Amino acid sequence: MFGTSGIRGVVNKEITPELALKVGEACGSIYKKVVVGNDPRTSSLMIKNALISGLLACGVDVVDIGFVSTPTLAYSAKKYDIGIMITASHNPSQYNGIKIFKRDGSGIPLKEARRIEEIVRENKKRYVNWDEIGEYRKEDAIGEHINGILQDVGEIENEMKVVVDCSNGATSTITPYLLRKMGCKVITLNAQPDGYFPAHNPEPVEENLQQLKSMCGAERAIGIAHDCDGDRMVVVSNDGNYIENDKLIVMFAKYVNARKVVVPVDSSMVIDDYVDAEVIKTRVGDIFISEMLKETKGDFGAEASGTWIFPSFSYCPDGIYAAAKFVKMADEIDVFEEIGKLPSYPLKRGSVMADRDKIKEALSKIEEEIKKLDFVKLIDVDGLRIEMEDAWVLIRPSGTEPKIRITVEAKEKSRMEKLWNDVFNMVKGCLK
Ligand code: MG
Repeated sequence: MFGTSGIRGVVNKEITPELALKVGEACGSIYKKVVVGNDPRTSSLMIKNALISGLLACGVDVVDIGFVSTPTLAYSAKKYDIGIMITASHNPSQYNGIKIFKRDGSGIPLKEARRIEEIVRENKKRYVNWDEIGEYRKEDAIGEHINGILQDVGEIENEMKVVVDCSNGATSTITPYLLRKMGCKVITLNAQPDGYFPAHNPEPVEENLQQLKSMCGAERAIGIAHDCDGDRMVVVSNDGNYIENDKLIVMFAKYVNARKVVVPVDSSMVIDDYVDAEVIKTRVGDIFISEMLKETKGDFGAEASGTWIFPSFSYCPDGIYAAAKFVKMADEIDVFEEIGKLPSYPLKRGSVMADRDKIKEALSKIEEEIKKLDFVKLIDVDGLRIEMEDAWVLIRPSGTEPKIRITVEAKEKSRMEKLWNDVFNMVKGCLK
């Protein structure tokens, strides 16, 4: 049921009111005080209300903070036992999901999620007497999140024009207001919440941001875009170019003087080369980044999807905080000029399809073969990543589809192409 991003699926197929009710009951048998929130999807209120019924029926006090971004929900979770967000993040309209956050803002670990799953499967009614039913209360949480970020980041000193693309999602409740309070002149784009996502799919990848790119170019303004629920943030330069997130990771790590940076195993080596800090690579998924940050006392974590974790503020990937931090950085240094100095290493991603059983069988053979390459470091926390002086290779079975993913990055294009062909043929050979 739970994946690394909570429960996610198609509405009224996998994600039904019955399921939400059961998850509410299961959470109700573990926690006592819960805060809930939702994104603007057409199904979000339906799912949230079922979940709240399950919680109340089991005697849990529920605070409903309404239509908010995921980072706002995670930020307010510190006052409760847990926070539950109804969202499918960047997925298209027909999806929804349930994501649970701990008090420190991180998603609950898989172990805790499995416990909830078990209780759901037990299917035992845990309803309390009528006079023990939980209390329901509505509260505003956006103001507190804005003030928390403002206090941490501060205002800007120079004039700045920013275009914010809210992707018709939940950040329309917060980012434009926050940036205005910081002193920016804000132009909003797609800031009317709409679960049909009429402007573009709410995933902030370059092909979805044509509107933002042309507007930034025309207005000579910095561009910020979020996914539907606001745990992601990406940047467009004031001449209308999409900024690669690997480079943004470098800039943020430098800006906060990070000593220990946590990134997933599929990250670019531009981070190793240009960040003056220990770079720790862990499993792909923001909950693993949060866990590793806590374990190693890391001071900055990120994923190239546009996920930013600043542990001094929250262990939740907070795209709104990241937007404020970026604007502040752009106020202090010529950020786009600095980004322009960073190289774009040639990178190729692809995959080989095969039966799941075949993949299982082939993995040890692949490991044997890949170790024959001349490498300086092997990382096996999530697939196999081998690092050389001028390149790296990642071979990783997909978690959701019957295929093995291959990523190769090198400083020179010819080296990358050659390495890609060698590794691709090797993996294909092992799957025969
Ligand atoms: Mg998201």
